[in-house]
Amino acid sequence: MQMIDTIRTLTNFIGGAWRPSVSGHFEDVPNPATGAVIACVPFSTGDEVDAAVQAAAHAYPAWRDRPVVERARVMFSYRELLERHFEELATIVTKENGKTIDDARGEVRRGIEVVEFACGMPTLMMGSVLEDVSRGIDSEFTRYPLGVVAGICPFNFPVMIPLWMMPIAIAAGNTFVLKPSERTPQGGARLAELLHDAGLPAGVINVVNGGKDVVDGLLEHADVKAVSFVGSQPVAAYVYKTAAAHGKRVQALGGAKNHIIVMPDADMDKTVAGIMSSAFGAAGERCLAGSVVLAVGDVADELVNRLVAAANDVIVGDGLDSATAMGPVIRPSHRERIEGYVEKGKQEGARVLCGGSRPGGGGYFLKPTIFDGVTPEMTIAKEEIFGPVLGVIRTKTLDDAIAIANRSRFGNASSIFTRSGPAARQYRRQIEAGMIGINVGVAAPMAFFPFSGWKNSFYGDLHATGRDGVEFYTEKKVITSRWA
Ligand code: NAD
Repeated sequence: MQMIDTIRTLTNFIGGAWRPSVSGHFEDVPNPATGAVIACVPFSTGDEVDAAVQAAAHAYPAWRDRPVVERARVMFSYRELLERHFEELATIVTKENGKTIDDARGEVRRGIEVVEFACGMPTLMMGSVLEDVSRGIDSEFTRYPLGVVAGICPFNFPVMIPLWMMPIAIAAGNTFVLKPSERTPQGGARLAELLHDAGLPAGVINVVNGGKDVVDGLLEHADVKAVSFVGSQPVAAYVYKTAAAHGKRVQALGGAKNHIIVMPDADMDKTVAGIMSSAFGAAGERCLAGSVVLAVGDVADELVNRLVAAANDVIVGDGLDSATAMGPVIRPSHRERIEGYVEKGKQEGARVLCGGSRPGGGGYFLKPTIFDGVTPEMTIAKEEIFGPVLGVIRTKTLDDAIAIANRSRFGNASSIFTRSGPAARQYRRQIEAGMIGINVGVAAPMAFFPFSGWKNSFYGDLHATGRDGVEFYTEKKVITSRWA
């Protein structure tokens, strides 16, 4: 068993065994709350990618032929193992990603819910039959797994996002190659190890560490049948095009710029709490983070004052400390990029009401930052910042607010806070985003629904999780039979 805490140099999991990489390229993985190096990740070679895919291809026929109830039983065991290792997994997430331990626990819980969903694979994979489609002729469709599938993950949910993919793909009968984020590689490694321990034959789950070269190796490999990707928009677009050009099925979930509309009749306590958790939870490093508030009518002054007061009270620090409300961002370079957006916001005429600076300490911390006087044309209103920065745009009407939100090239998530049924109804019908919250700040779908981003937040046809996930990892066969 690989003890993550004592391992300095991560290895690849290929064919049921941990194998040191022969690559000469390694990078440090620091704890973003302290800067201390906690692991070292290899950037694996093309041969190592090939070995992982070959191990998965070799394991595929026997795994596909295992009855679906047996495959589902592995997921029941996996669920028990994940529960037993719940705190360990949450601690890994906090140490390598920086989010607070409570937030990390929420992430692990959300991941386990996908495993619970995958336990229902015997029902989820059912086909259907229609007798006598013509005289004496019957038709049925059945579902089959695809073969080897690859999962490529971002840094911000090191446990939840691999769990969006692996349980559904594997319970459906596929074999899997996971490429965790090189910035948070330990969560995926531990998940794969526990999944193997839950009763998988060697080669059904494999992990190959690295960056772009490993991704390219998977996208171009003839034996990879499908690719699930979650990450930034430009890379999502690249993965979608490249995987499709190599004949693969692909789902690529990209970046976001999420708008929160606040109506004058909103419950102010709940609205402020909802926006604070949406904008500053996980230091804004969530694809569902609220990034722009559209304050409608005369709600703006009170809303802004209360948000600034709440932001000034946020305790920034190490996520393992129970007093901490917001942890660091992932890397010094990412902090500088966020600070670049703060400068740009100032240059373009928005006013910083709080934050915009570093609170001190050894980690990659930033204070929660709120801009007022933002206009839809400003860079900070349009681009994904992926940090603890919230912009407020003042609008006259709900129509204006919806029109501004819909101008975004992203369409991942959005929320409205209101007591008005008609306003909520107009919003849910007209807003161009795939995951929307009504009096909910982070509109995260549960495992049995699709994670359904729109526009440039998603490239593909079938989303992650829910029935879309089952459809993505299976293909259908329609059988027409006549017995005279
Ligand atoms: P990223 O795009 O930098 O990296 C994601 C993965 O792609 C990593 O495994 C990385 O190794 C690989 N990669 C990076 N550059 C590559 C390249 N040029 N070619 C091929 N592969 C490459 O994303 P990140 O910074 O790790 O994650 C944050 C981003 O992910 C944000 O934009 C966020 O909105 C997005 N995200 C989206 C969702 C969603 O559901 N839509 C969920 C979580 C995160």
